[in-house]
Parts: sequence; structure tokens; C-alpha cells
Amino acid sequence: MKNIYVTQPNMPPLEEFLPYLEKIWESKLLTNGGPFHQELEKKLAEYLGVEHLSLFTNGTIALVTALQALRITGEVITTPFSFVATAHSLLWNGIKPVFVDIDSESFNLDPDKIEAAITPQTTAILPVHVYGNPCDVQKIQKIADTYGLKVIYDAAHAFGVNYKDESLLKHGDLSILSFHATKVFNTFEGGAIICPDAKMKKRIDDLKNFGFADEVTVVAPGINGKMNEIQAAFGLLQLKHIEEAIDRRREIDARYRQHLSNVPGITCSSIEADTKYNYSYFPIMVEEGYSLSREELYEKLHQHGIYARRYFYPLITDFPMYRGIQSAKPGNLPVAKLIAERVLCLPIYPDLSKLEQQTIASIVRGD
Ligand SMILES: *Cc1c(COP(=O)(O)O)cnc(C)c1O
Repeated sequence: MKNIYVTQPNMPPLEEFLPYLEKIWESKLLTNGGPFHQELEKKLAEYLGVEHLSLFTNGTIALVTALQALRITGEVITTPFSFVATAHSLLWNGIKPVFVDIDSESFNLDPDKIEAAITPQTTAILPVHVYGNPCDVQKIQKIADTYGLKVIYDAAHAFGVNYKDESLLKHGDLSILSFHATKVFNTFEGGAIICPDAKMKKRIDDLKNFGFADEVTVVAPGINGKMNEIQAAFGLLQLKHIEEAIDRRREIDARYRQHLSNVPGITCSSIEADTKYNYSYFPIMVEEGYSLSREELYEKLHQHGIYARRYFYPLITDFPMYRGIQSAKPGNLPVAKLIAERVLCLPIYPDLSKLEQQTIASIVRGD
């Protein structure tokens, strides 16, 4: 059997992409907010049900820029259980990350532990909707309002997720998306910032273009975060197939839950009633009572050419540039530590066949 990776990008038929390329070749408009860029911003905002969206070259630059756009300084409260770019975006802005433990069901920042971490230097909260599970957006907003803090959601996993019939991306001051090849919706590399008003979008658009407000005026030390026309064109094509892709993922998610429902020591993540998921990941918890340790199961799958991933292990706070920070000490983050030691993300992507999935499930079951 061929190797199976945790994800595989959704690739629409090549012949569907060729007309887009011909247009780019004809127009010679390659970047700088060209026609495909403009069209993708509009269509994505519509599809996602958000007011404004600014495309970026990748999700990390979007995160770095979002912090700049809101002039965040000092300390920011965030989670250790994420991809390392979440915390790196703070260091790139000279901001001190303050790590707070996660909730054992949602794997997201535990809102009940946020207040204790607030100091006079705290200016914002940077939570992550891990695997597309919604954070407790109400509680987080309430804390932010009480203490006058901004909220920026790292929504890299939350493309198309709705919570209580509304886009999850509408919460907080800003949300960022990633369109990296491994994500549900991809533009090879790419990302976006979601914001509620046109004035903020203008500031973000200036910042991603070196700070140019017009041809001769530079209003801020901006960066080059622009998405190019090939990326944007690919995004437009992806968007035509996204519903179908999420439907396939939903079916795969349901089948895993069936296959793995009665395996002692294996737990699938819980499903909340108010949420429309995107099925971007399929995390399982390998707990006491299972015949193997998480590491042993991970190795066993590898031996069969199945590259499940330990997202997120190690924790961000285990990396050398973070572990010296007081809030990064393991004693402060017992839940995150436990989850990082137990979690394993199984392959999930639209082209994963039923047979491949059965093979994966039977290895996990130990048949
Ligand atoms: C993928 C990801 C990012 C980074 O996005 P890129 O587009 O790869 O730069 C940030 N945060 C989280 C949680 C991610 O999964």
C-alpha cells in the first residue's frame, strides 16, 4: 500500500486551472491586488459570511500583521497547545507570551484560567480554535471587555466553521486563517485576516503592502504580506469544490467514529450541538486501558506507512525560546501536557478511500 499522510491537499483537476493561468499570462498582472486577488477576497467573505477579509501570503504573516494592526504590546495571553507560529508571532512583535492551560474537552484555552494570568502589561488574548473546535468565545469576550483587552483568534483550523449559525470568524477583534497546503482550504501557501470594519481592513491592507496608503504615502513600517495572483486563482478554483471536500471529510469523520467506538482506551473528540465543523483533523486520545502507548501506536502506524501526527506535541512551551518563561513551566500547564502526550491525529482528507480508512482503523483496533 502507498504511504498515507495525515492530510493531502485537495487538488481540483488541472485542466480547470489552466484557464486561470492563461488569464494571468495574458494580463501580465502577477500580484499587487490583481483581479483574482480582488475576486477571492470578495468571494471568500461571502462564502464565510464575514464582513471584511484581507488576503495574505501565509497565515503566519497574517498573525504578525494582525498584532501590528491592533498595536499590541507588552504581554499577550495564549495557549501552549498549538502550532508554534501562534507564539512565534508574538516574539516577532517583541511581545511576551503568557501561557495559560487548556480545557480537556475542547483542547482550547481554558477561559476560567485566563483572569489569573492578567497583569498590568496584558494587552490582548490570542486563543486558537484548535482542530476547528470553537473556543468559549462568549466567556473570552467577557473577560476582554472587563479588562479592556483585544482578542485575536488564530483561526487557522476554523475555515468555514459556524457556531450558533454564524461564522466563528466573526468573534474577537480579528481572526486569522491559514491556507497552507495542509489546511482544509488551500492556496499552496496563503492566509487571511478577518475584520469587522472597512477602516481596519484599510489599515491591514496598508500594512501588508509595506505601509503604502497611496502611491507616495507610507503610513507605517509595513511588511510584504501580499498574496499573488496564482495563489488567488487557485483559491477561486478551490472554493468551487470546497463544499464537496468538506462533505467527504464529514463522511470520513463519521466512519472513524463508527470504527473506533468500542476500542477500550481510545476516545474520539466530542461533538458540540451548536457547531458546523469543517472536519479538518481527526484527533484521538490514546489513554490508559489501551493495549499500546501513544508512542507505540504512532510507531506501529508508521511501520504500515501511515503517517499519523502528534498535533500538538511537543507543546510550544517545550521549545527552547519559550521554556524559560515562568508561565511555560509544566506545573502551570498540566492539562496541555497530558493531552500532548495522548493525542494522535489520524489521516483525514477528501481522497482517503474507504479501504484505506478501514486499514487505519483495524490497526488502531489491533485486529
Ligand atoms: C498552519 C497554522 C499556522 C500558520 O499558518 P501558515 O499559513 O502555515 O503560516 C498558524 N497557526 C496554526 C494553529 C496553524 O495550524
